[in-house]
Amino acid sequence: MVGFGYDIHRLAEGESLILAGVTLAHHSGTVAHSDGDVIYHALCDAIFGALGKGDIGEHFPDTDIRWKNASSDRFVDYAVQLVAECGCTIVNIDCTLIMDAPKIKPYKEIMKANIAKLCNLPVERVNVKATTNEGVGFIGRGEGVAAMCICQIVNESPSNI
Ligand code: MG
Repeated sequence: MVGFGYDIHRLAEGESLILAGVTLAHHSGTVAHSDGDVIYHALCDAIFGALGKGDIGEHFPDTDIRWKNASSDRFVDYAVQLVAECGCTIVNIDCTLIMDAPKIKPYKEIMKANIAKLCNLPVERVNVKATTNEGVGFIGRGEGVAAMCICQIVNESPSNI
């Protein structure tokens, strides 16, 4: 099965910019109920999508005080646990970040390593890429950051799902 996830958060001065578990040096960061990690949120939705298990808002409502400032690796942990409970295994993950600044090249390898560790995958099965929005629109103006993620999952025991 294949699942797709998308997430977006506004950027504001004085907030932290955390992407795939890495805190980036930048003057602005994501405005969110949790830590606003758009890559992890898109990843969760890709996993939930592949499993047919709804979306991150259903599993972790932003009205729930428990998830206030929560580290988003908790959400990925939960999604990966669901994969195992369904008798499935993640094959690969491909993420795209859409952000004009800062550049993520110095952080890509650690981002991939973080995702691989959370998802029990060899790092070769994880891809993190980025594109700018060419200065266009709210992302181009630095007002927001978005991420998309696709995840393939195989069912090791088809009777379980
Ligand atoms: Mg989000």
